[in-house]
Amino acid sequence: MVISITPLTPAFAGEVDGVDCTRPLSRDEVAAIEAGMDEYAVLVFRDQRVTDDEQLAFTRQFGELEAYTSGGHIRKREDTRLGPGIIDFSNLDKDGNIMSAEDRVWFFKLADRLWHSDSSFRLVPAKYSLLSGRVVPSWGADTEFADMRAAHDALDARAKAEVEGLVCEHSLIHSRAAIGFTDLSADEIVAFRPVRQPLVRIHPVTGRKSLFLSSHAGAIVGWTVPESRMFLRDLVEHATQPAFVYRHKWRVGDIVMWDNRTTMHRARRFDRTEVRDVRRTTLAGEPAIAA
Ligand code: MN
Repeated sequence: MVISITPLTPAFAGEVDGVDCTRPLSRDEVAAIEAGMDEYAVLVFRDQRVTDDEQLAFTRQFGELEAYTSGGHIRKREDTRLGPGIIDFSNLDKDGNIMSAEDRVWFFKLADRLWHSDSSFRLVPAKYSLLSGRVVPSWGADTEFADMRAAHDALDARAKAEVEGLVCEHSLIHSRAAIGFTDLSADEIVAFRPVRQPLVRIHPVTGRKSLFLSSHAGAIVGWTVPESRMFLRDLVEHATQPAFVYRHKWRVGDIVMWDNRTTMHRARRFDRTEVRDVRRTTLAGEPAIAA
């Protein structure tokens, strides 16, 4: 099949035609999709009714899986609904029932509605994330993506000079505290120790600069916390203006793949009494290349 990509906004996000995600890709097809990722940063594949094993096999064609079993919180193997390598972003508990509104796993998921880049709180942040829509609620639950390359390019010369060389501290503790969830275990506090990431990073293939922002970023090294947070807040506001955002409305069978090195994303509200079953596979990246 010939792969074609249709832009979804003037410069960001594309819809892919000519790919069956349940089948192995040729080298040329992998290269075409990687080139599409480098150009569009977000790719949408429609009507892909994949099993978990097929999603894993499709993902592995683009790199090494991250070795984590959740989107952040610590949990035991027996508490998970899905098999190894598949991260559960549904609102279901391990028995397949809708989570209680008081479930602390739900609190972790709620904070994914803040703009972030996956695993920016880890020493090696994520490369691509792939989210597969298995059950989609009747309203809401869109995912929004923001183009951090365009956001960097649109800074004025003064701001570009100011962000260059800055280093931020990222931690899940910060993003969870931002929604008032501070009830973390001692193990979690150790596991979520802040890691340092450059505020401006360079894409290893295209060489383009982008802002490496995330709700996990709670401080700028060498700055006071209030000064850091106000500046980061201003940058996030700049970076998520409508011109830089693609809003994905989910259909069952969608796979959306994004490059965490050049984008932020956030989940949007839905009726928590309806089932939302979305499943993520994630590729490990490399330490961020500072500008
Ligand atoms: Mn995420």
